[in-house]
Order: sequence, then C-alpha cells, then structure tokens
Amino acid sequence: MPARERSFIMIKPDGVQRNLIGKIVGRFEERGFKIIAMKMVHATTEHLEKHYADLKNKPFFPGLIKYMASGPVLAFVIEGLDAVKTGRAMLGATNPLASLPGTIRGDYCLVTGRNICHGSDAVESAEKEIALWFPEGVIEYKDCEAEWVYED
Ligand code: UDP
Ligand code: MG
Repeated sequence: MPARERSFIMIKPDGVQRNLIGKIVGRFEERGFKIIAMKMVHATTEHLEKHYADLKNKPFFPGLIKYMASGPVLAFVIEGLDAVKTGRAMLGATNPLASLPGTIRGDYCLVTGRNICHGSDAVESAEKEIALWFPEGVIEYKDCEAEWVYED
C-alpha cells in the first residue's frame, strides 16, 4: 500500500512571478509524490497571519506577511512516503545560501526573505495547514503510478 503521509507545499509569490510553478511541481511529481489538492490563491493578510501564527512575535513577521500577500501563491498537497520530512529536504534550508544545490531553494533563490517555497515542518503542522488552505478537503483518487513507486 502506498504511504498516506501528507504535506502542505506552497510556491510563494516570487516563485509564481518567476515562472517556477512547472519546475517546482514537477519535482514532487517526478519524485513519486501524489498531488491530491492544488489551487492558486491571492491570500489575505488575515489568512497568512493564521498560516504563520507561530512566527507572530518574530521581527521579520510584518515583512513576511507583506511578501506573502504581494501576489498569488500556488498551494498544494503532496501525499506519499515520509512526505513531510522528504518535502522539507527537497525545499532545502530556510536560508537559500545554506541550501545544497539540487534542492529547490539551493537551485532557484538566494535570500531567506525571497525563498520561493514553503513546506510543512511536521505531520501535525501539515494537518493544520491543509485544513487552513483546503477546508473543502483534498481529492481522493487512485494513482496508477503507485504500484511502480512502492513495492507493495
Ligand atoms: N523568514 C525571514 N527571515 C528570517 C526567517 C524566516 O524572512 O530570519 C521567512 C522565510 O520566508 C521563511 C518564513 O519566514 O521561509 C518562515 O520561517 P520558518 O522559520 O518557518 O522557515 P521555513 O519553515 O519556511 O524554512
Ligand atoms: Mg516553517
């Protein structure tokens, strides 16, 4: 049976403006993850404040919210083996300069405040983020690739 762990991934406004949607989504598809929800949203400040509630006392919080509200984002959910930890590994470090080449941040950006993508940092935060961005739920469907991605 394919693994059912889920993570919330988001291409931030700079990633959208820089036309990196196809490349970034493609990496998750090619790795073997199943995409079970996706939408483009120009998020409100209130919504973004909920998404980043844990960071509200950080000095960079106002700038982060302004950045994230500056244009549309592409929000999506990946499902598969170790989706949260592997998703984070694929993104790279928060500071792109500390991200290895081969990671998304390590290949496409340079500064922490414009690091083009988000990924949930724990299974619990993934559940909260998926509920926040996809209150309508995700899409259940059979992925015909799964039998070739997983052993059984
Ligand atoms: N951020 C920032 N300055 C900092 C730390 C974080 O602008 O010193 C931004 C950056 O866009 C980061 C986001 O805030 O991706 C959320 O921070 P977090 O520590 O959760 O990093 P992430 O989980 O995105 O790697
Ligand atoms: Mg985080």
